Amino acid sequence: MSELLLECQNLSFSYHTPEGEIPVIRNMNFKIYKGEFVSIVGPSGCGKSTLLNLLTGMLSPEEGFVKMSVSGEEKPRFGYMLQQDHLFEWYDIWKNICIGPKINHCLDAECEQYLKELLKRYGLSAFIHKKPSELSGGMRQRAAIIRTLAMKPELLFLDEPFSSLDYQNRLNAANDIGQIIRKENKTAVLVTHDIGEAISLSSRVLVLSKRPTAVKKEFLLPYRDMNLTPLEIRNTKDFGTHFNAIWKELNNS
Ligand code: ADP
Ligand code: MG
Repeated sequence: MSELLLECQNLSFSYHTPEGEIPVIRNMNFKIYKGEFVSIVGPSGCGKSTLLNLLTGMLSPEEGFVKMSVSGEEKPRFGYMLQQDHLFEWYDIWKNICIGPKINHCLDAECEQYLKELLKRYGLSAFIHKKPSELSGGMRQRAAIIRTLAMKPELLFLDEPFSSLDYQNRLNAANDIGQIIRKENKTAVLVTHDIGEAISLSSRVLVLSKRPTAVKKEFLLPYRDMNLTPLEIRNTKDFGTHFNAIWKELNNS
């Protein structure tokens, strides 16, 4: 088994509001290993974004714990990509993707070279001095993932990153970003409510129950080693079988 990067044990969390307590996560357990692409699907409002905020340390658990890189001495660096791309409209694409390294004082010649290579590899070189508003939705998502990769994270957290795009662009953006993550050898945790997206991108899918949520079932998928693109995976003959199995589980939650 490959290296354990993230472990979440007996995790519980509630929001405390003036109207009372909202229990969101109850006794959640799972592990993420290096090289995996794990999608987390669950009903709307069940606590998926809350879970990512707990995994990334933006929120603290009420009970249980989240542990990153239990075997390594150093914490794996992580990147967090949200539903909106949060590109700064007043900066051009180059300045946008340099923000992380600049803030962390590591924007040296090597880093610039790496970022320029990513822009070239993923078809954005000609747009380096354009403002985000001059790019299509799919191109903005590619710029956003390059910005997320700028700090060379080992582990990526993606919270419904394609849901602001229309269907056609969503398929293309998921296809591009799935391939970028695979080529750059990253481990990824994707939150989505789209079963097709989860199957076409992942090596494993975790299905969450309704709030207060926990992992209800996990599905192992065979595609990641087959060297198929996410779009090609959608056309395989057993895609529908996996889709129905996950759909059934999700609807029984
Ligand atoms: P999901 O991402 O699965 O749609 P969220 O994690 O955003 O779900 O929210 C889970 C539940 O917690 C929802 O019922 C939501 O209304 C509630 N919630 C989310 N954020 C807060 C907050 N800051 N304060 C109180 N309740 C919240
Ligand atoms: Mg959410």
